Amino acid sequence: MALLQIAEPGQSPVPHQRKVAVGIDLGTTNSLVAAVRHSVAEVLPDAQGQRLIASAVFYGAPDEVRVGHAALQMQGQYPTDTLVSIKRLMGKSLADANEMDMPYAFEQVGNSVAVVTRHATVTPVKVASQILFHLRDLAQQTLGDDLVGAVITVPAYFDDAQRQATRDAARLAGINVLRLLNEPTAAAIAYGLETGVEGIYAVYDLGGGTFDLSLLRLSQGVFEVIATGGDTALGGDDFDQAIVDDFLQRTAQAPLSSSQHRHLLMAARQAREALSDNEQVDVATGLQAPLDRLQISRHQFEVLAQPLVQRSLACAQRALDDADKQVSDVQGVVMVGGATRMPIVQRCVDEFFGRSPLVDLNPDEVVALGAALQANLLAGNRGSDDDWLLLDVTPLSLGLETMGGLVETIIDRNSTIPVARAQEFTTYRDGQTALALHVVQGERDLVSECRSLARFELRGIPPMAAGAARIRVTFQVDADGLLSVTAQEQSSGVTAQVAVKPSHGLTDEQITAMLKDSVAFADEDALARMLREEQVKGQQLIETTIAALERDADLLDQEQRKSIEAQIEALRTKLGQDDVDQLRLAVKALANATDDFAAMRMDRSIRLALAGKSLDEI
Ligand code: ADP
Ligand code: MG
Repeated sequence: MALLQIAEPGQSPVPHQRKVAVGIDLGTTNSLVAAVRHSVAEVLPDAQGQRLIASAVFYGAPDEVRVGHAALQMQGQYPTDTLVSIKRLMGKSLADANEMDMPYAFEQVGNSVAVVTRHATVTPVKVASQILFHLRDLAQQTLGDDLVGAVITVPAYFDDAQRQATRDAARLAGINVLRLLNEPTAAAIAYGLETGVEGIYAVYDLGGGTFDLSLLRLSQGVFEVIATGGDTALGGDDFDQAIVDDFLQRTAQAPLSSSQHRHLLMAARQAREALSDNEQVDVATGLQAPLDRLQISRHQFEVLAQPLVQRSLACAQRALDDADKQVSDVQGVVMVGGATRMPIVQRCVDEFFGRSPLVDLNPDEVVALGAALQANLLAGNRGSDDDWLLLDVTPLSLGLETMGGLVETIIDRNSTIPVARAQEFTTYRDGQTALALHVVQGERDLVSECRSLARFELRGIPPMAAGAARIRVTFQVDADGLLSVTAQEQSSGVTAQVAVKPSHGLTDEQITAMLKDSVAFADEDALARMLREEQVKGQQLIETTIAALERDADLLDQEQRKSIEAQIEALRTKLGQDDVDQLRLAVKALANATDDFAAMRMDRSIRLALAGKSLDEI
């Protein structure tokens, strides 16, 4: 007899079935896809063995689209049909695009900018999706499996529009985005820093056209970006340009054609990359003498490179200043970007931070590798040997304001994200048709002591008795930390929604202070909560009693009516004072005083109902 196997909790019932998830570095110059195979993250090469896929898309005849190296080859002949550095346009407007120094014609399409080529007018999202599609295809060919999803990296400074554009591009490419991950965080993960010493880490990323410096704070296995700095017009390309300028000065040449210029730039790049491993290089430019050979020594190059490297370090200093940190606070430095292969860059970064930067992993692959590790984790492939865990958590509790200015916590602090929680609320008044929702963040019981995140209203609630409506409020924090709050009235289905970024504009110091206060004021808050709750109860009792008197006062004699009114007054006075016990007594007294009245009203409504009339009819 075959026995049915039962898996241990937390273990996959089918041990050999792994879900394939990849990490994608969608770069300005180069893009890559990586995956964890046999417990190791590795970059997936394409059929030609290329690991870096040029972030270039060529639009030839209608429907002819080439991506990567094949696109770059067309750049010489069709410079404006070969789109490069498209990442710079993600989430940007037409006006933004026109201010950039890019060789393309732009147009507005919908609410996005679009690039006009001879055969196609394409939005940056579309172009990016074509690169992503190419990477997805490559991954599926290599891994021979369907992808469950991908982690895609974005610069830490990307705003919501730029992140959304990246998500849209992935969706267009048919990729399920497990999450967007900040590039510096991905690099830190690739080095396994999250299991290391807590503290501040610097990520120095010098790519083809951009320089980014990020400061990360690691605590309890979670990275947080505490400052970003950089220069969107400083990258390997600028070093190439410096070589060309110097070369032209030395050869004293007249102005060049743009094609000649491009040839020289390509030769300069080749020379510069070769100089990372050689002391002296000699590169054929493909041009006529005296421009035919570009000869340069490493020393000559470093003289040209020095001012550019200094510019990057000035950015690093500014980021440190912004975060109120010093070089000595930095626990480790991670090198990212192909251009950090230049020895002068490594040397100067070492001198600046007073410590050797991490360079063991390929700097142009490290972001994709970290993304692959994260993707593997999110896809649920945690092996016993990957006992590291990178979790993002909500640093502070998230909740709603309820009557009396009190906070009802929906998502507790330190919940791992993504997370969703729902709770039901109801109306306070009879016939209430709208609900004001106030989303707050913090650990205190009183709304006034918490941080206000958003306010919105749910309208169109069908009129019902107080407490009869059922309004389900759902809090959802996605993997990027974006909070969406949805309120839905259950009988009619009316819905209202709001989305906010709870971490926006919140510093470490503020979080720490808020946590400290929650402990310091715990007793005080508990008392305040009791008082507020009793006040709400008292206020509500007064309101319902007055409404009842208005309707059925004829059931009472003078004496009874006076007594109830006296208790209302007594309770009113206590409402304005801060004595919970006295207030509680007054609430009880009014409730007692109205007991008989309530019974008489009940009788009346039963009698009316039996007579076939509703209360409203009299
Ligand atoms: P991005 O993040 O902008 O997509 P990459 O990280 O791929 O870019 O970096 C591209 C840059 O790295 C190019 O300027 C390229 O010349 C440079 N690069 C690549 N290899 C080397 C090398 N061996 N020496 C110097 N620079 C290099
Ligand atoms: Mg990069």
